[in-house]
Amino acid sequence: MKLGVIAIQGDVSEHVEALEKALEQRGEKAEIVTIKHKGIVPGCDALVLPGGESTTLGKLLIREGIADEIRDMNEACKPIMGTCAGLILLATEGDEQVRKTHQHLLGLMDTRVNRNAFGRQRDSFEFQLELPFLDTPYNAVFIRAPGIVEAGKDVTILASIDDMIVAAEQENILALAFHPELTDDLRVHQYFLDKLF
Ligand code: GLN
Repeated sequence: MKLGVIAIQGDVSEHVEALEKALEQRGEKAEIVTIKHKGIVPGCDALVLPGGESTTLGKLLIREGIADEIRDMNEACKPIMGTCAGLILLATEGDEQVRKTHQHLLGLMDTRVNRNAFGRQRDSFEFQLELPFLDTPYNAVFIRAPGIVEAGKDVTILASIDDMIVAAEQENILALAFHPELTDDLRVHQYFLDKLF
């Protein structure tokens, strides 16, 4: 089994570490590969699109030829988890800012996103989030977080804060507005790995 983490920019090592710990916790073995270039995604069984800066990430994913490989991976229904900027990239539609700047999106999930949904005053915050696959709340870390403002019928909403959707699923895709790699709680990574093992 091979797990890929897009490593063009953003919090890559934290995801790698969380996946390593989660694998160890469940007594499974898998190779974890970081991806900067074309040619590696097709060999992966699951993929993580980390947080970072979605404009930069989007541009580089296309320039490196990785964007099309991710689309193929999605066609093959392999598990993909996008966190924060990853959630933005997965969307089919963005906000005014995204449209104006012609920002590249992968368009794999039937969602419309707001890139900076929680505004300046709430740049970073933590929230005890109820997730349907967990028994107790999850301490979710939000950093300049996006949100999903509209979701199509194939999207399952997992969690919202006020009217903003912050966790959602569409078939093989899991999109989170927060950073599960920044806490010691491995339950979200475990939920993602449940799709593989
Ligand atoms: N809001 C940021 C963006 O537009 C994402 C922030 C993050 O990934 N921590 O790219």
